[in-house]
Amino acid sequence: MEEKFEVWDAHVHFFSFNFFKTLIKMKGEEKTLNEEFAFLKERYGIETPPVSPVQLARRWIDEMEKYGISKLVLFASIPEDTVSVSTAVTAFPDKFFGFFTLNPLSENIDLSIKHAVENMGMKGVVLFPALYHVHVYDELLERIYLLAEEYNLIVFTHFGILKIPIREMIGVKDQIDGTYGNPTDLHRIAVRHPSVNFIIPHFGAGYFRELLMLGAQCKNVYVDTSSSNSWIKILPYKIDLKTVFAKTIDIFGVDRIIFGTDSGVFPRGYRIDILNQQLEILNEIGLSSDEIQKILSGNLKRLLGF
Ligand SMILES: [Zn+2]
Repeated sequence: MEEKFEVWDAHVHFFSFNFFKTLIKMKGEEKTLNEEFAFLKERYGIETPPVSPVQLARRWIDEMEKYGISKLVLFASIPEDTVSVSTAVTAFPDKFFGFFTLNPLSENIDLSIKHAVENMGMKGVVLFPALYHVHVYDELLERIYLLAEEYNLIVFTHFGILKIPIREMIGVKDQIDGTYGNPTDLHRIAVRHPSVNFIIPHFGAGYFRELLMLGAQCKNVYVDTSSSNSWIKILPYKIDLKTVFAKTIDIFGVDRIIFGTDSGVFPRGYRIDILNQQLEILNEIGLSSDEIQKILSGNLKRLLGF
């Protein structure tokens, strides 16, 4: 691993002060904000983020410098927190890109999207079908894809096992409904909107076969490699991450695989272990430097219009 690659991480959660505050409020208990943060610290070791998103952004830049990461895609992980990510992106436009989470069932999604793109500089929209209980092929979402076409927005959509540990730690009672989690849900949408690029994280998070089937048929579907990919353990057969990569490369090719870590909380910070592990796998598989570079940044650059 002597070689130096340029790394753009497509999957980092910007867990801002406002993010925590909003979820804590949503939970609606009597404890004060300070007590809630003290609990998170004591129980889970989670650091209270600085109130200022710019300060939190600086924290991420320190991590990037420490590990030689060039750019991060920052996710606003709830619709109410687009503003924090937007602040970070505006302060450091050469470091970050912003993606915002949309609840497709909320009112005026057209306006939300237009505002997020035109005024807040967002480059992608994040969908969590299993969290918001709506299929990605629901006609309600058609407007999202039309606007994605118009604005060249990347559509990031989470399928498979959905676990959001941070929300569990905060104590938000989500009803995650796996009914909405099958990647093949995306088939007709991806076919209908060939100019929209879709990214599915964590190799489909359990729906590996379905992800491969979709990827074989839809050239505008991409996969992100992020997280520890522990979904591998629940499959009814033995498979390791190296085999997952090899099979994905077979079907998607090296041009549709995008590196990410799913980093989010401090003090853990940047999940360099995931980069190291995946780099080792890519080398073991025998990819050329050019091919590895595509996965680590080239493909994301292209989707972002660089
Ligand atoms: Zn994530």
